Amino acid sequence: MAHLTNTAPTAELQALDAAHHMHPFTHGAGLADKGVRIMTRGEGVWLTDSEGNRILDAMAGLWCVNVGYGRQELVEAAAAQMSELPFYNTFFQTSHVPAIRLAERLAQLAPDPLNHVFYASSGSEANDTNLRLVRTYWEMKGQPQRKAIISRWNAYHGSSVGSGSLGGMKGMHAQGGMPIPDIHHIDQPNWWSEGGDMTPEEFGVARARQLEQKIEELGPDTVAAFIAEPVQGAGGVIVPPETYWPEIQRIVDKYGILLIADEVICGFGRTGNWFGSQTMGLRPDVMTVAKGLSSGYQPIGGSIVSDEIASVLGGDEFNHGYTYSGHPVACAVALENLRILDEEGIVTRVREETGPYLKERFESLVEHPMVGEAKIVGLMGSIALTPDKAARAAFAADAGTVGLICRERCFANDLIMRHVGDRMIVSPPLVITKDEIDTLIERAWRSLDEAMAEVEAQGLMKPAAVA
Ligand SMILES: *Cc1c(COP(=O)(O)O)cnc(C)c1O
Repeated sequence: MAHLTNTAPTAELQALDAAHHMHPFTHGAGLADKGVRIMTRGEGVWLTDSEGNRILDAMAGLWCVNVGYGRQELVEAAAAQMSELPFYNTFFQTSHVPAIRLAERLAQLAPDPLNHVFYASSGSEANDTNLRLVRTYWEMKGQPQRKAIISRWNAYHGSSVGSGSLGGMKGMHAQGGMPIPDIHHIDQPNWWSEGGDMTPEEFGVARARQLEQKIEELGPDTVAAFIAEPVQGAGGVIVPPETYWPEIQRIVDKYGILLIADEVICGFGRTGNWFGSQTMGLRPDVMTVAKGLSSGYQPIGGSIVSDEIASVLGGDEFNHGYTYSGHPVACAVALENLRILDEEGIVTRVREETGPYLKERFESLVEHPMVGEAKIVGLMGSIALTPDKAARAAFAADAGTVGLICRERCFANDLIMRHVGDRMIVSPPLVITKDEIDTLIERAWRSLDEAMAEVEAQGLMKPAAVA
């Protein structure tokens, strides 16, 4: 059997990586010069790298390792399913037990009336499905002119052509001919950076009303759906003001357009409920799931849709699917993962215990001189770095310059926090303990101190001119 554990010196692996491995969302030459960090093991919230460092992973891999690393039950679920039936498709009027049982379980967990699952292998694929699904739904309802999908700037819905178009990342749109037609974007509810003189409550309503303006501008009978993450993740963990979602819900109801909640990060306990839609009080027609569905142990995603959508789509053939839709090994692992989340009370613990504890500790970071606001829902939070809190100022340096310095200091202190521009993000495994939360906050504080010293030394502690 080929063992793929670390047997070579780090430098040799780094050279091979630079020679042959192209990384996602990475400046290739820049990384090759620096040398990639190589992870070798995981246990709970801890990673070990090829140099033997023990790192607290406050990003749960990439928002996905909800039950933590090293869960043997998931290994066994995969092995058992691979022995029994490693693959069969679900195309030609066939099915298998893992796909059936997982669909049943997701229908139980998802809010009513979402009772039907279309499988994919990732969040990107699932959102591609959603794009075609909502348009096909309206075609089958005799309203083929409803093609427009409204999304938000800085939303992240994946990186395929369809899902990347649904997303609102301008840097992504600039490469490779995106967005595709009939996708429109409104502004995100980021009060700290964009709220101006408004209160958060006023700003939440104002940003939600952009949806209504966009619908009116496009023509209400041309709009198919609005898609959004209950709490924007990769866009910087933007927790919307409390007034935002009720107003959005009022608007989608008024115009009868479909609401797609992208639960790829928020789903499966991250916000203290099974789904972020429950925490934020929305009533979606479609939910996108992936990441925490299998805690990242297997690639799997899907769309969970309402009875109404399933019944309309069932009226004709939906010419869409993936070879790995409902992959039996991925479904078996996801089912076991959902069992662990449920039976070990992990979702409840996030809501009642670790979530409130992390909130208290995380919000105390706002006392740091370089931190402007600290926002958190469940176990997903962010802080805004600033040279001038009172003015809610951005840095004069290019966005992300200071964030990157801070991320590097976190890495040096064996803490993985991500930066989005000049916001720092945490989204740890849901099994994190209170002691580990204390360690996270201590390391974050130390990293902020070191980052601020470096920012000052480089003369970067300067606010941008106000536009
Ligand atoms: C990660 C992510 C996706 C894309 O999922 P992939 O599995 O990377 O394709 C979609 N939506 C949200 C909200 C995400 O965070």
